[in-house]
Amino acid sequence: MKHRFWLALGIGALLSLSAAAQEVTLTRLDCGTGTNDPRRFSDTFAYSETTKPFTFSCYVIRHGSDVMVWDTGYLPGSVPSATNKPLADLLKQINVNPEDVKYVGISHYHADHTGQLAPLKNATLLIGKGDWDGINATPPMGSANVKGFAEWIAEKRKVEPLSVDKDVFDDGTVMMLRAPGHTPGHSILLVRLKEMGPVILSGDAVHFHENYEHDGVPGFNYDRAQTLASIQRVKQIAKNLKATVIIQHDPRDIGKLPAFPASAK
Ligand SMILES: [Zn+2]
Repeated sequence: MKHRFWLALGIGALLSLSAAAQEVTLTRLDCGTGTNDPRRFSDTFAYSETTKPFTFSCYVIRHGSDVMVWDTGYLPGSVPSATNKPLADLLKQINVNPEDVKYVGISHYHADHTGQLAPLKNATLLIGKGDWDGINATPPMGSANVKGFAEWIAEKRKVEPLSVDKDVFDDGTVMMLRAPGHTPGHSILLVRLKEMGPVILSGDAVHFHENYEHDGVPGFNYDRAQTLASIQRVKQIAKNLKATVIIQHDPRDIGKLPAFPASAK
């Protein structure tokens, strides 16, 4: 009798644990459109064409009632490729108050990923330690968009510089993974969705399909060997988890997620 009681209690606890698993969704926000010269993105002279379409994406991950933003695009108005629809407005369209965002994960410190941090006042900034150190160095690293972090530094907002992978919600559903090379602290994001399955958001580990397929390294990257190792990591994760890889700057990957305001589940 006693054993049965404890067994029932155990099963009950398991059931309530699984019921407590939080629903996770992923939404793409359009954070800009433009073109780039692909020749800059190969240090082995792989390309001869002079222009390639680029997209600039931001993402929202909902985990139960918590909200995380991944990358923030250019500051509106700062460059021709920037969006004229501010991130804060797009968030409101999907019923997210920018001040309620719990985490903002940044793949790396470049201006096209860090232009709209300011409205996310109460978020904890998750960023690779190598990039955070580059922003705060005297003088800062050349390609770091220090301006984008001005409020973070001046107002002493919450920041977690990451030197290891980070399981954001402690349940394996959202993981920020180290993928250095493009910059010293570059990261990618793994989001495990119930219906769609695992999704990898590339950051700038690669910028377009051809570089992913042929291990292409931009001449301006911080470290060539690290870049190749990171591309290999992405490929291995994709293979092992059967994950969908979304290359953030490649317009051909926009359609892998439902069109805004819909989200992948
Ligand atoms: Zn970049």
